[in-house]
Amino acid sequence: MRIAIIGAGIIGVNAALALRVQGAEVTLYDREGVAAGASRGNAGIFADYAVLPEARPGLRREVPRMLLDRNGPLSIRLRHLPKLLPWLRDFIREGQPDRVERSTTALSALMKWVRPDWDRVLREAGCEDLRVSRGTLHVYRSPRAMHDALPDWQVMGAHGVRFEPVMGQALRDLEPALSRDFQAGVLMPDLSHALDPLGLTERLAAHARARGCEFRQAEVSAISSTETGVCLHFPGAGTRAFDRAVIACGARSDALTRPLGLPVPLESERGYNVTLPAAGVTLNRPVCLPERGFYMTPMSVGLRIGGRVELGGLIAPPRWSRADVMLRHARNALPGLDPKGAKRWMGHRPSLPDTLPAIGPLPGQERIFAAFGHGHLGLTLAATTGRILAEMIYEIPPEIDPTPCLPARFA
Ligand SMILES: Cc1cc2nc3c(=O)[nH]c(=O)nc-3n(C[C@H](O)[C@H](O)[C@H](O)COP(=O)(O)OP(=O)(O)OC[C@H]3O[C@@H](n4cnc5c(N)ncnc54)[C@H](O)[C@@H]3O)c2cc1C
Repeated sequence: MRIAIIGAGIIGVNAALALRVQGAEVTLYDREGVAAGASRGNAGIFADYAVLPEARPGLRREVPRMLLDRNGPLSIRLRHLPKLLPWLRDFIREGQPDRVERSTTALSALMKWVRPDWDRVLREAGCEDLRVSRGTLHVYRSPRAMHDALPDWQVMGAHGVRFEPVMGQALRDLEPALSRDFQAGVLMPDLSHALDPLGLTERLAAHARARGCEFRQAEVSAISSTETGVCLHFPGAGTRAFDRAVIACGARSDALTRPLGLPVPLESERGYNVTLPAAGVTLNRPVCLPERGFYMTPMSVGLRIGGRVELGGLIAPPRWSRADVMLRHARNALPGLDPKGAKRWMGHRPSLPDTLPAIGPLPGQERIFAAFGHGHLGLTLAATTGRILAEMIYEIPPEIDPTPCLPARFA
């Protein structure tokens, strides 16, 4: 089978590897090159604890604050609001308790495969050195703040996530660099993280190339179905025929699905990071400040401070004050932090309102597959997405029920 994959981020590259294993002749197209989008600068967490969706009850009441606080953990850019409204409406609806429960069940079913699927991919590609398993720590300023978060931890615990509360001196023993302002924490001992998300995507791409996948730097402007397969269209009117196509264009995927009649509610959740090449402090594991909405992840490329959400669309320039505020909070949390050489970055998380990715054939176009919309969890779910796609395209009896992820849910 000749399969075109559009988008060479962590999702497209994992799709290529999984389909190549099944014997596909794979061609990957990316308008900029490998890992040009969100996969380049994420916080590196294999976040298989994240079974709770982003949308939660009571979200509607938060919207005015999101509009007013331009540097808060979750902000909305006023100019983008008219365009954002349909997505925001769906997102708020997904915060209803029954929908939260439904997404939690579906996410939990996916998360069970994250570790074994990544184990296999990293082993086969010889990239195990780029992942370390030292757990992850969430820290709170007061036991009260931790107590407020306990119901969420209990849900995660019910879905098999191991966690241990850590208080006072025990917290400082784990992370001596942390300010004494933090009195409580939750350790997830089983979690792992990537030492270099860009390097990981590049090395997996090199492995895919070595296994015979072809990479082409080109923009795909449209896809159409033909009687026997699919046709890719390029700017300037060139075309190329394939048997199947996979859309893995991250936050820009709807530009290809919309003309095919599928109105996917895809939105960019813009995220920022600051990477400090010589931070001057040591963290033993990634540390999350949930009240501030970001992670501090020790990587081979330095200490990466990254996260937060800005709903501002694909076009507006970065608002770097958001990255600067994050760095300020990080300096308070890690008093010895040296900001010299700080590099700022902004990326677009491809987000769907129910926090579930879209994986599977487009309704009415059974040879064109979606593989996008992974939001905050694209690194986490990339290897499992590759496996699900391979099971679908090669009609292998599925180990994971893909129904909650099917794009048909938007038809
Ligand atoms: C600040 C931040 C922190 C994050 N932290 C984490 C984390 O800790 N853990 C985690 O699991 N996830 C995290 N994420 C989310 C994760 O990075 C994304 O979900 C993931 O990278 C999405 O991968 P992708 O391959 O779908 O998209 P992308 O990486 O954006 O790749 C899409 C590719 O498609 C190409 N493209 C687009 N349109 C076309 C076209 N028409 N023709 C050809 N090519 C095209 C682009 O050039 C791009 O290379 C984070 C994201 C951000 C922004």
